[in-house]
Amino acid sequence: MDTCAICPRTAPDGSRACPVCADDLHAWLAEIPRQAALLEEEFVAPSAAPARGRLGGTGRAHAPAPADLRVLTLLGPGRYDPAPGTDDDGTAPITAVLAAWAGHIAYWYPAVTRDAHGTAHTQPCDQAWPAEGRGITSWCTWHTRYLPYTLALPLTRAYHEQISDLVHRLRALTHTTPRRRAMAAPCPSCDAGGLTWTDGQWRIVCQVCGHHLTPEAYDEHAAAVLRLRTGAALSA
Ligand SMILES: [Zn+2]
Ligand SMILES: [Zn+2]
Repeated sequence: MDTCAICPRTAPDGSRACPVCADDLHAWLAEIPRQAALLEEEFVAPSAAPARGRLGGTGRAHAPAPADLRVLTLLGPGRYDPAPGTDDDGTAPITAVLAAWAGHIAYWYPAVTRDAHGTAHTQPCDQAWPAEGRGITSWCTWHTRYLPYTLALPLTRAYHEQISDLVHRLRALTHTTPRRRAMAAPCPSCDAGGLTWTDGQWRIVCQVCGHHLTPEAYDEHAAAVLRLRTGAALSA
């Protein structure tokens, strides 16, 4: 057991991320395609559709919003190099960020090949190929599949940081953030009423002390709290 590469919690054996940080990544990789679809709907679809104004000879029906260029770049193709020290100016296309990270991850992934004499060689993979094409959704599926492997690599912290940046950049443009619900039972660790459950996230996390539990563990805990309270009320 080691400390999580991202936060002060403990990471399970064989992983550099604690369950809460791993859960963040799972949720973000599921959120990115949804956010990208929202962006497309909001900024790209209206101007891509035949502009009604054109029929009257006045050109575009809508002047392009200032966000258009940023959005088109984000959703478009392009290259991106996340090597340490390179600064992302916030305009790297989503697929390029995901492809570049997949390349880094694949490099760590040992591929076994056999030469003409039948001798097996283990060497790094030189490419990552998502099975279903190279759109945003396929890249996110690829990243989700490789997550247990990725989280054992020294790049865990930088990966968490950049996927987080990407999600927050998308949220800022779509003005859409996953809903966070406050849970009724107090935290089993610090007793504060800080337990919350965020849409898309697997675990319930205490915002006060950082304690986390699975939905099943929460249900058991909440039932025990309720039994305790009703018992106290009955004996009062
Ligand atoms: Zn952590
Ligand atoms: Zn707590």
